[in-house]
Amino acid sequence: MNTKDVLARVREDNVRFVSLQFVDVVGTVKSVDMPVGQLEGALENGVWFDGSSVEGFARIQESDMHLHIDPDTYAVLPWSPPDMRRARLFCDIYQPDGTPFPGDPRGTLKRTLAKLREQRGWVFNVGPEPEFFLFRRNGTETIRPVPHDVVGYFDFSSDDEAVRVRTELMAALKSMGLEVEVGHHEVAVGQHEIDFRFADALRTADNVLTLKYTVKAIAAQHGLIASFMPKPVFGINGSGMHCHQSLFDLQGNNLFFDSQDEFHLSPIAYGFIAGQLAHARALAAIVAPTVNSYKRLVPGYEAPVYICWAQINRSALIRIPRYTPGQHKATRAELRFPDPSANPYLAFTAMLVAGLDGIDHKIPCPAPLNNVNVYELTPEERDEVGVKELPGSLYEALQELEKDEVIKGAFDPILYQAYRRAKLAEWEEFRIQVTDWELERFLETA
Ligand code: GLN
Ligand code: MG
Ligand code: MG
Ligand code: MG
Repeated sequence: MNTKDVLARVREDNVRFVSLQFVDVVGTVKSVDMPVGQLEGALENGVWFDGSSVEGFARIQESDMHLHIDPDTYAVLPWSPPDMRRARLFCDIYQPDGTPFPGDPRGTLKRTLAKLREQRGWVFNVGPEPEFFLFRRNGTETIRPVPHDVVGYFDFSSDDEAVRVRTELMAALKSMGLEVEVGHHEVAVGQHEIDFRFADALRTADNVLTLKYTVKAIAAQHGLIASFMPKPVFGINGSGMHCHQSLFDLQGNNLFFDSQDEFHLSPIAYGFIAGQLAHARALAAIVAPTVNSYKRLVPGYEAPVYICWAQINRSALIRIPRYTPGQHKATRAELRFPDPSANPYLAFTAMLVAGLDGIDHKIPCPAPLNNVNVYELTPEERDEVGVKELPGSLYEALQELEKDEVIKGAFDPILYQAYRRAKLAEWEEFRIQVTDWELERFLETA
C-alpha cells in the first residue's frame, strides 16, 4: 500500500480516527491519535512526538522523535464503534536529524531483516503460537481472576461462551489481515491458542501485537480479561509463544530443507539450531523477558527447561516437526521458550542473530535427544550428554545477556542499555516483595 491507497481505504472504511502506533523497549504499544483529516499530512510529513516519557526513549538532550508511518500496516480496529471508526498504522521512529532512532524496536528488526536480504538474499520467517487465558473477575475479588469457564455460574454454559468469544476473536483478526489458521482450547482450564500463518518476521511481529490487543479488546467487550502473562496460575500450564522459524531465499525456496538428511534439515538449518542452542541462556532475557516468565520454564508443564533439540520430544527447547512428504516449505525449527510477554521485534531480532551466528561460525549441532524425556535425566546424566539448563530467573538471564556479545550486539547500545535498565528495575522491584507463599511458610514457623 502507498499513501494514496491508505487515503482511499480510510474513505471506503468510513474511518474517523487513526492511531499511529509504535512500541517502547519492553514492547508496550504506544499510540498517537488523530482525526482522519490529519492523516494525509501525517503520511507525507510524519508526526512529531515527545519521547521523553516513553520507556527507553528518554535522552538527556532532546526527546523529540519523529514517527514515519508504514502504510502497509493499515488495519481497521473492528471493535471501534461504526460511527467512531478507528484505524491503526504502525510507525518507525526517527530522530530530528532524519536518521532512524537506534532505540526503536521495530526499526531494529526492520534493519536487521534488510541486512539479511541485502547481504545474503535471505528472508526470516516466523510463525508463532500465542497462548493466553480468558479470566472473569470474581465479584469483589479482583486481584485473583478466575478462569472464566470454571467459575461455576449456573446460568450459562461456560464452554459455549469460550467458543463464542474465540470465534469472534478469529473473525476480528481475519478482518485485520491476519491469516488465522487455528484457534483451540489449550491444556489448562481457561486457556486458549490462536495461530496465524507464518510470514516474514516483521509482519509476524506486527501481527503478534495486533493479536494481543485485539484479543484484549474483544474479551473486554464480553466482560472478560484476556491475559498473555506467561504463568498466571500456579500449578497449571503457563502460556508460551512457540515460534516456528525458517529461512527462505528470495525465490521462496526453504533453505532449511534438505531431502537427503534424515530429519530433512540442511546444513543451514543445523547451523541455525546450533546457534540458538549455544546462545539460549542469553536469548532467554529477550524471549522470556519478565520475572514471571521463569515460573513457566519449570518441569512438568510442557515448557522447556533444558537446552537441547529433538524431533518430536516436546520437552526440548527446539523441536523439529515431522516432515510431511512434499511440504518442503514447512520444514522449520520450533523454538519453545519464547512467551507472549516478549517484545516480538526484539525477540525475533535476537533469535535471528543467534541462528546466524551458528551458521557463520559453523557451531557444531549436538545430537538430537529423541526418545529421551530430558526432565527425567539426573544432573549427572545431563552433564554426560552436555545438556545445560535455561536460566532460573530473569536476573540470571540478564547476567547471561550481559556476557553474550553476539546477542547483545544485535541491538544498538542505546537500546540495550535502556532494556537492561528497565529489566533490572523490574527484577529489583520483584526481589523485595513479600509474597503470600512466604507468609504462609514463615509467619508462624520462623
Ligand atoms: N503451554 C505450554 C507452554 O508453556 C505449551 C503447550 C503446548 O502447546 N503443547 O509452552
Ligand atoms: Mg500449538
Ligand atoms: Mg500450544
Ligand atoms: Mg507448538
